[in-house]
Amino acid sequence: MNVAARIRASLGRPLNVEGLALSPLSKIGIAIGPIHGKSTEELLRAADVASDLARHTQPPVVVYRVETDIHSESRLELLTRLRRALDDETLEVWFQPKVDAISGLVVGAEALLRWQDQERWIPPDLFIPAAEAAGMMNELTDFVVRRSLAAVAKWKANGHSLGVAVNLSPSSLEDSDLPARIAGELRRFQIHPPSLTIEITESVVMGLGQTVAEGLSRLRSLGVRISVDDFGTGYSSLRYLKDLDIDELKLDRSFVQDLSVSDRSATIARAVIGLGHSLGLQVVAEGVETVEARDLLNEMSCDVLQGFLVARPMDETKLARWLDRHQTKQTRPDRSVRITKTGPAK
Ligand code: C2E
Ligand code: MG
Ligand code: MG
Repeated sequence: MNVAARIRASLGRPLNVEGLALSPLSKIGIAIGPIHGKSTEELLRAADVASDLARHTQPPVVVYRVETDIHSESRLELLTRLRRALDDETLEVWFQPKVDAISGLVVGAEALLRWQDQERWIPPDLFIPAAEAAGMMNELTDFVVRRSLAAVAKWKANGHSLGVAVNLSPSSLEDSDLPARIAGELRRFQIHPPSLTIEITESVVMGLGQTVAEGLSRLRSLGVRISVDDFGTGYSSLRYLKDLDIDELKLDRSFVQDLSVSDRSATIARAVIGLGHSLGLQVVAEGVETVEARDLLNEMSCDVLQGFLVARPMDETKLARWLDRHQTKQTRPDRSVRITKTGPAK
């Protein structure tokens, strides 16, 4: 651990890149031979698993343990425990604030699933695809929608007016009853529909064609907002931007993170923001980690910022305390221009 601390300290020294002082962050996963693996491949894999967990620890240094290696157990075991977590409601929904790029006022929060299982945090990127494959996603989505709308109602009761964004996976869009269930929850918690944003990743929008378009238009008719997440990572097609009724583009964090060091990322970010604005869409930048990125995004007239620089995702209790220290902005009136067949995008 001492050696790891020394390595991190030396990697963390500020670097000067073309006049910019960058402070590199690092995480360390440790695997010891022959206990954790006999070949180079096995050891590297174990170190990789440990460094993945180090994302969620402080300091970010983790020694490999087979008990925390999710890849070493069967998907069935994982799903059995996920089902139990859903039934016991030990699964959690955390929230990450989004702020207006100019005023810094809080405009909303993104709901993100969190699952702590046997003292380890299992990343959503890992359990969501498993749940999707096992047909559990509709229940997970209902759970997230319910928790998120309940949170909006609670924030409102405490004097904070902000909306919430919920991620939907492909199977949820094929679930023809989902719009009715969402409408029911909106009524139950007395939430104005534009306070709910539905995020769908660009690859999903691209991949499912007609089914997605129909699912989306049913959701849209409820009056909720639609956002295209991770924009720029799919095979961005201008065709779907023309045909779909959407409100927001979320610039993928891969462009945001190296904005200040990569001219190409900066050019793409600027182009996406310009494209979004000319279509009447709000543009959100995700993964904003540095002041440099924030300033550049401001210069590019990006509307909303989300990322560790603003705040990390947090549970409801922590967010309530955070909101007490930050001002919220009345949820924007819907400023989007409808992209319909006769809309401005043609
Ligand atoms: P996403 O929707 O693009 O969510 C943003 C991810 O970026 C979150 O990861 C968040 O913690 C992370 N993030 C936010 N700010 C920063 C930053 O400044 N730097 C970096 N490096 N990362 C940042 P998370 O929570 O691990 O979620 C990963 C993905 O899992 C999400 O990506 C989303 O696609 C999916 N997901 C999470 N919750 C749900 C859910 O309830 N339903 C569905 N269908 N998918 C979900
Ligand atoms: Mg998202
Ligand atoms: Mg995203």
